[in-house]
Amino acid sequence: MKKFIEEPSRKIEIITETDVLVVGSGPGGLSAALAAARTGVKVALVERFGCFGGNITAVGVEGFAWYRHEKTVEAGGIAYEFEDRAKSMDAAVPESQSTSYELDSERFKLVADTLVEETGVSPMLHRFFVSPIIEGNEIKGIIVESKAGREAILAKVIIDGTGDADVAYRSGVPLNKTPVENMIAASVMFHLSGVDKKKFMQEVKDNPQTYSDWASGEWEVETSGKEDKMFSPFLKAPFQKAIQSGLIKSDLNTISGTWGAMHDTGELTYMNLVHLAGCDGTDPDSLTRFEMQGRKEAMQAIKALRKYAPGCSNARLRNFGMTIGIRDTRKIDAEYNMKETDVRNEGRFEDSIGIFPEFIDGYGVLILPTTGRYMQIPYRALMPKKISNLLVVGRSIGGDKIAHASNRNMSCCVVTGQGGGIAAALSIKNNKSLKEVNIVEVQKELKKQNVRIN
Ligand SMILES: Cc1cc2nc3c(=O)[nH]c(=O)nc-3n(C[C@H](O)[C@H](O)[C@H](O)COP(=O)(O)OP(=O)(O)OC[C@H]3O[C@@H](n4cnc5c(N)ncnc54)[C@H](O)[C@@H]3O)c2cc1C
Repeated sequence: MKKFIEEPSRKIEIITETDVLVVGSGPGGLSAALAAARTGVKVALVERFGCFGGNITAVGVEGFAWYRHEKTVEAGGIAYEFEDRAKSMDAAVPESQSTSYELDSERFKLVADTLVEETGVSPMLHRFFVSPIIEGNEIKGIIVESKAGREAILAKVIIDGTGDADVAYRSGVPLNKTPVENMIAASVMFHLSGVDKKKFMQEVKDNPQTYSDWASGEWEVETSGKEDKMFSPFLKAPFQKAIQSGLIKSDLNTISGTWGAMHDTGELTYMNLVHLAGCDGTDPDSLTRFEMQGRKEAMQAIKALRKYAPGCSNARLRNFGMTIGIRDTRKIDAEYNMKETDVRNEGRFEDSIGIFPEFIDGYGVLILPTTGRYMQIPYRALMPKKISNLLVVGRSIGGDKIAHASNRNMSCCVVTGQGGGIAAALSIKNNKSLKEVNIVEVQKELKKQNVRIN
C-alpha cells in the first residue's frame, strides 16, 4: 500500500510579475520568449538548468536543420536567426548531409545568452517549475523550486515550453501520452575527442552510408524512395564487427545511428548511437535507470569505435549530454490536434503561424523535404483546453504520432515558439483572450519578424 504525508501550506514570496512568462527554454520556449519580447511586452524565461537552449545545449542535439536540401522551403524567422547567430559567434560548422549548419552545443549556450540579453527577456535560470497557481479557468502564475526554496512568479499569459507539457499537465488540461512501449526511444548523447579526422573522413568516403542503411537490421524505416540513395552520416559496421568478435554483447545490437560533426581539432560530436526503448521521460525512476544504462551503452559504443572505426583508435569520451535526451512524452489535447494527413499532404490552415517542410522523422518513417512541399502549422495546435491564458509550444503541441514525428523537430518547435510568443504578446497588448486574438495581426507581426506563413 502506498504511504502519504500531508504537505503543510506555506506563504511563498512573489519574486516577479510579468506580462508573458515562458517556462522551459528549448527551441520552443526560447523562441517564444524572444518573439514575445520583440512584440513589445515584458517577458520572463524560467529554466531548470543553468543554460538556455533545451535539447540543443542540455542534451547535445546539434543537427538543427539536417533535413535541408536545395529545394527545401522553410519558415525562416528565429530558426534562421539561431543558425546565423551561431555562425557569426563561431558556434556552428557546415553539416555533413545537408545545406544547413550544425550547432555547437556548448557555444550555443553563449548564443542563447546573447539573444536573451539583447531582447531584454528576464533570465531566470536554475528554477524548476513545480506547480501552477490556478484560479477558475486561468493560470495566474507558477511556483518554482530552487536553491532559494519556493518562489512564486505571476504573469498574464504563460507559455509552456517544457517539452513534457509540465505546466499543462499540472494545470489539469486534457493531454495525450503515447504508451511507453510505443514511444520514440530516448538516447544518452555523447561527444568524442582524439579522432583522426583524415582517417575517419576517408572511411566515410570509401564506404558511404545512405538512409536505406538505417533500415538494416533492427529497424524498419519507411521512406518515400528518394531518400534511399542519399548520403547519411550513419555508423553501424563497427558495432556489428564488435558483436561478431565478442568485444561487446550481442544484445547491444541496437547501437547504431548518426554522427554529427567531425572537427579539425579531433572532436567528433553529436554521437546519436544509443537508443533506449521503454524510457518514460516523465518518470524519475525510469529516467534514473536509463541515464545509467545509456552511459554504460555509450562506453560500449566507444570501445567498438576504438577497435573497428578507422581514425577512432585514440578516441576518448569528451562529455555526455547534461541529461538523457527524451523525444516523446505528453502532448496536449489541443483545440486542433495535427494529423498524419496534414503532415503528409501539405496541410493548410487559415490560422497558420508558419510553415514547416515535409520532413518526417520518427515512428519508423523518414521522409526528407527535397521537393519543396510543406505544411502550415495552425495556432490552435498550441492551445490547450480548459485554461484560457496558457499556450504550449515545442514538441508537446497537439498532434497524432506522425504529426509529432514532424513537429518535434527543432526548427518546427521554433515555428510554434515564435507564433505562440507573438500571439501571447498581442493578446496582452490588445486586451484580448488567447482565443480572441486577431490571427491576421499575429500573422502580420510574424511577417514583420521574417516568418513565412504561407
Ligand atoms: C537524442 C535526440 C536527438 C535528436 N535529434 C534531433 C535532430 O537531429 N534534429 C532535430 O530537429 N530534432 C532532434 N531531436 C528532437 C528535438 O531535440 C526536440 O524535439 C526539441 O528539442 C524539443 O524542443 P522543445 O523546446 O519542445 O523542448 P526541449 O528542447 O526539451 O526544451 C525544454 C526545456 O524546458 C526545460 N524544462 C523542462 N521541464 C522544466 C520544468 N519543470 N521547469 C523548468 N524548466 C523545465 C528543460 O530543461 C529544457 O531546457 C532529437 C531529440 C533527441 C532526444
